[in-house]
Amino acid sequence: MVTSSNSTDQAVRSVPYALPYLADEEIAGVVAALRSGWITTGPQVKEFEQRFARHVKAPQAIALNSCTAALHLALLGAGVGPGDEVITTPLTFCATVNTILHVGARPVLADVDPRTLCLSPDAAAAKITPRTKALLPVHYAGCPADMAAFLHLAQEHRLAVIEDAAHAIGTEYNNQPIGALGDFTCFSFYATKNLTTGEGGMLTGKDESTTERLRKLALHGMSRDAWQRYSLAGSWAYQVEMAGFKYNMTDLAAALGLAQLERFAWLQQIREGYVARYQSAFAESGFELPPQSPRPGDRHSWHLYILRLDPCQLTIERGDFIKQLQAVGIGTSVHFIPIHLHPYYQQELGVRPGDFPVTERAYSRMLSLPLYPKLSEEDVSYVIAQVTHLAQRYRK
Ligand SMILES: *Cc1c(COP(=O)(O)O)cnc(C)c1O
Repeated sequence: MVTSSNSTDQAVRSVPYALPYLADEEIAGVVAALRSGWITTGPQVKEFEQRFARHVKAPQAIALNSCTAALHLALLGAGVGPGDEVITTPLTFCATVNTILHVGARPVLADVDPRTLCLSPDAAAAKITPRTKALLPVHYAGCPADMAAFLHLAQEHRLAVIEDAAHAIGTEYNNQPIGALGDFTCFSFYATKNLTTGEGGMLTGKDESTTERLRKLALHGMSRDAWQRYSLAGSWAYQVEMAGFKYNMTDLAAALGLAQLERFAWLQQIREGYVARYQSAFAESGFELPPQSPRPGDRHSWHLYILRLDPCQLTIERGDFIKQLQAVGIGTSVHFIPIHLHPYYQQELGVRPGDFPVTERAYSRMLSLPLYPKLSEEDVSYVIAQVTHLAQRYRK
């Protein structure tokens, strides 16, 4: 009889880093939109906006073709422009910083909190100048940023708060869903995010008249959208009120989003179940675990599951760890290459390696493991077995 001596005796599986959960409901929703003949912004988008706003308890929502578009509009809505500074984190996707540059303002980076890896309120406070116009925290990996501290700073210094909530659909702060805390909140429905429309985003805003202006700005600056012009009850006439953008979501994407939103709570439960397994399996294995919930009343959306290798316990480096997992069929990723390590931003912003030590230390050790509802329990067992096996092999 052959007994299994270690985890690598398992047959090699293929566990991709990310896959969307798409089922009959999504397909039926998109087909119905196709059959309706209305494929651009129309009734599906309106319904998705309303349901999403209710879901995150926001007074109003604008469906867009990306979170990047939402960030751009939010900055314009906050009146950020040339000569202004916006404080954000170096541990984010480039879109957070690019949109600040798009409005002609200067991104000012401040280091992250070592535990949550979200923008540190103290580090941000130290960067406030008379030119600062807005704070732009990221709810990193789905962990809520310290919003009380940012809202307090904003009030004290009369700043806008724009939240990059690309990871935060399903995140709660102080028992409130992310979506109505800051002045503007920007969500992503990119293919790998917790809720996807293929490509897409949503902007929620507190102030109704500003949000209505941004809604027009998202569609060429026109006074009426296509539904208001071409539907039977509509009128052909419109005015261009400003030089707008082409940021609208299509009904095809919204139909997909509506199906995703319908089963969102269930999808989150699956994520939470897998995270519980990861957390208990990796607790003693030479890793620093992601924080479960930083404060009472917080809920992590678990967009990303990020392990940090502990160099005091392991002899293997992050890059090799990723290669070894790849060799056994497990896809991983790194979120993110810090902004200040990209040559472009070094030139543009005058930042350099060493400027944000907490970010760099975390970056050099981190990897994101597969975490999505399409994974099976067996996939999760396989990831756990391979990761713990590697950690044992390279233990000091
Ligand atoms: C994905 C992501 C974005 C951009 O989202 P898009 O919908 O692709 O524009 C912005 N910020 C962060 C932190 C992200 O992860």
